[in-house]
Amino acid sequence: PNGKIGDNKPRLLLMGQRRSGKSSISSVVFHKLPPSETLYLETTTRIKKESMHSFMDFQVWDFPGHVDYFDPAFDTENIFDEIGALIWVIDAQDEYLDAIARLNTTILNLQQHYPAINVEVFVHKVDGLSDDYRSDTFRDIIQRVQDELSDAGYENAPVSFYQTSIYDHSIFEAFSKVIQKLIPELPTLESLLNSLCSNCRIEKAYLFDVLSKIYIATDTSPTDSSSYEICSDYIDVVVDVSEIYGWDRNLIEKSSYGRGDEAIPGEAVAVEETGNQDAESLITMERKGNNYLYLREINKYLALICLMGDDSPSDKKALIDYNVGVFQAAMKEVFPR
Ligand code: GDP
Repeated sequence: PNGKIGDNKPRLLLMGQRRSGKSSISSVVFHKLPPSETLYLETTTRIKKESMHSFMDFQVWDFPGHVDYFDPAFDTENIFDEIGALIWVIDAQDEYLDAIARLNTTILNLQQHYPAINVEVFVHKVDGLSDDYRSDTFRDIIQRVQDELSDAGYENAPVSFYQTSIYDHSIFEAFSKVIQKLIPELPTLESLLNSLCSNCRIEKAYLFDVLSKIYIATDTSPTDSSSYEICSDYIDVVVDVSEIYGWDRNLIEKSSYGRGDEAIPGEAVAVEETGNQDAESLITMERKGNNYLYLREINKYLALICLMGDDSPSDKKALIDYNVGVFQAAMKEVFPR
């Protein structure tokens, strides 16, 4: 059901009540707006289609208080037909009973006509809650949704819940989990990443959507937030440089990294271009504290980022380059677009 649209991109739809945080989420995740600046955002107005340079496709809907979106006059087919996941945002700092009632009505309607859509509930703005209150609220929301749905005859509804905030990495990690469910090739990607890690003694490898910093796959070793944070911060460094120079690789190479092959601790050790690719591929390897980070663009949306321990001297780079090349070739088979 997912990915059947022309360009094969996973499609997400973000819904929820006014002021629940939809515009903020979309601005922070997809437009790199600093979270504190969301205070001045205009609230979402009706339906907003986002078009962005990303692996996924994304639409934001305002809470349709005055529109019955299951009204036959309303063209739901066009909208829900292409959606892989519906993300429902609930403001955990606000009164949420009405939001839950709306959510359940939507779930029951979707179940009849679009059972393939994943329903993902973001219990949002949890940064403002104390730890105890936060987990109580989370449990209460889950319980109420499930109780109401089973009262309506829908047992064990496949609805997932996440605690999110735009002030930390939780919103990105929640999106990562949502998006991974929509990628049929995920097991293949995971096993490719697993073999890359074991061949090169890489601790953790992520396949990132560069613009959003959502990871669409990682190897199957345990994931902790700190390695995600290190890798996602590294994208910021690389992408910011690239934006400044308008993705002109030659300029980047000359201005920041063009100093030969010597490894200078704390500095980039290599940036190169690979020819004959559809998209030019940026490769960098850098020492960061006790770790080495390796980044390589895989296609126009995705980059591979690997985290290695201190025992990985830069002369291992040839081995990594080779194995990542193998990985990249395999990726072309998986995502030929
Ligand atoms: P929308 O109407 O659903 O699009 O909601 P907005 O994106 O306009 O957000 C409403 C308010 O919630 C804004 O003042 C945001 O700064 C705030 N907000 C959004 N996300 C968060 C969050 O994760 N934590 C906190 N504390 N506030 C948030």
